[in-house]
Amino acid sequence: MGKVWFVGAGPGDPELITVKGRDLISRANAILYAGSLVSAAAMRWATTNCEIADSKGMTLEEIAAWLTAKAQVHCTVVRLQTGDPTLYGALIEMTQPLDRAGIEIGVVPGVSSAMASAATAMESLTLPEVTQTVIFSRVEGRTPMPEGESLLELAKHHCTLCLFLSITLLRTIQSELRAAGWREDTPIVVVHKASWPDQEKIIRGTLADIRDQCRVEKINSQAMIIISPTLGARHWPKLKKSKLYDKTFSHRFRKADKKVAGN
Ligand code: SAH
Repeated sequence: MGKVWFVGAGPGDPELITVKGRDLISRANAILYAGSLVSAAAMRWATTNCEIADSKGMTLEEIAAWLTAKAQVHCTVVRLQTGDPTLYGALIEMTQPLDRAGIEIGVVPGVSSAMASAATAMESLTLPEVTQTVIFSRVEGRTPMPEGESLLELAKHHCTLCLFLSITLLRTIQSELRAAGWREDTPIVVVHKASWPDQEKIIRGTLADIRDQCRVEKINSQAMIIISPTLGARHWPKLKKSKLYDKTFSHRFRKADKKVAGN
């Protein structure tokens, strides 16, 4: 029996896969990739006799059956997932049938689209004395949200929010953010197809106009919505600096400059 690896392919740019993920692709006997979201370019590292299939049209049961069947005849089977496999990736639904079949599994992390979106927009999701918390969530659509996790409740923290799978729900997002006390001029960044070569789009707006802007740009899928009091900080004239790099702050790797600290 072989081993099934759930590998994070990263957000789109094939170069954003981890070295470990790339090595697994290059020694895989069979790869099942999520064709609608994972760049086929990631398959460039596969050997010519590797069996490659797209799961785009498959149900979860069919995916599990495919992985099980391949693990029974091959040594290394890869399930290539978009971004990081532990976020909105149906990981547990796929691993349970494999566990039942007694097949060994491994998970290799990937660069989530939340991270790639922040990077491409050159934003920091945390800033000293502004916010030190990031919430990854989504807005209720067909998938119900557990109690206590409505956007209204989460948004009351006024920390950074990264919303997956919610670009068609901007109207709800606007009304819930308003109800949670966010101002009309709150900056919001939407990144469509972050890191996909030649396809990425960054839309910068506010709570008041982000929906109209996305409509004009025809953004209605594969987009990350980042709402944060840190957005745009690159252009702020004054910042509270991180203590880690402060001259007067000692830590494990550096002693404070006494002269400055005493002032
Ligand atoms: N596991 C993935 C998320 C899968 S859910 C991850 O870690 O990124 C699919 C959602 O992820 C999309 O609806 C969108 O909100 C987001 N997404 C995936 N790829 C994206 C990309 N390249 N740019 C922006 N958002 C993306």
